[in-house]
Amino acid sequence: MAVYKSRGIVLRSIRYGEADRILDLYTRDTGLVSAIAKGIRRTKSRFGGRLEPLSCVEFLAYEGRTLDIVTQVEVLRSFHDVREDLKCLKAASGMVWAVRALSGGDEADRRVFNLLYHALDALEARETSFEAVGSAFALKLSILAGYNPRLDVCVSCERDLAQISSEGLLYFAPPLGGVLCAWCRSESRDAGPIGDSFALSPAVVALLQDLVASPIRDVALEEGQEESVRRVVSAHVLAHAPGNTALSRSHLTDAGRRTLRPA
Ligand SMILES: [Zn+2]
Repeated sequence: MAVYKSRGIVLRSIRYGEADRILDLYTRDTGLVSAIAKGIRRTKSRFGGRLEPLSCVEFLAYEGRTLDIVTQVEVLRSFHDVREDLKCLKAASGMVWAVRALSGGDEADRRVFNLLYHALDALEARETSFEAVGSAFALKLSILAGYNPRLDVCVSCERDLAQISSEGLLYFAPPLGGVLCAWCRSESRDAGPIGDSFALSPAVVALLQDLVASPIRDVALEEGQEESVRRVVSAHVLAHAPGNTALSRSHLTDAGRRTLRPA
């Protein structure tokens, strides 16, 4: 049994049986890990209440057949305040969703771990504009995953958006991963993958560019801007989620139940 030590952020923490918890962690060294912490919910557990979702922990575990088994945990940052504010928690939940959506398998990407850590840090440090952090996180994450959204030129004719935005509305085409000009959209209207494109204003494109370019701790959106930005960001993430199906299936819970049910 290979024992290992790693650092991870708890994405999900599910009750299992009388006293155990099944955890999803995004770890610095091995990407997504599913593990079980036994006896965690007993009052005298050596873990205490230390495995809250979003906490950043250092842990010792050994590899199990389906789930790794956590034997020791130390909390490095609990990100307690992120869980205390409903809007803040909602933004963090969106970030967790994006990580699960864009992480294909067990590939390790230390940049994803770092981005998630800094985004949680940015959420905890502020009192407003949580949505901006969530959207900036998802955009930056999509770039790390290799799905850089085209926000400077039309994805089809490659004309500079700054020069054509005066012609009228622009469109976001999730399957093409970027913005389409009105002319290209009308030219290829019935041609498959642009079918679910939707209109967006040049102002929203500028906001998206700003979220990509700014350090995550500095991003901001006004309340009226959040909805249209969120629509683009979630459509972009969803269009590039491997298989898309991982999102609707709770694969960890299912796997856990199957293999851990007492014989
Ligand atoms: Zn075009």
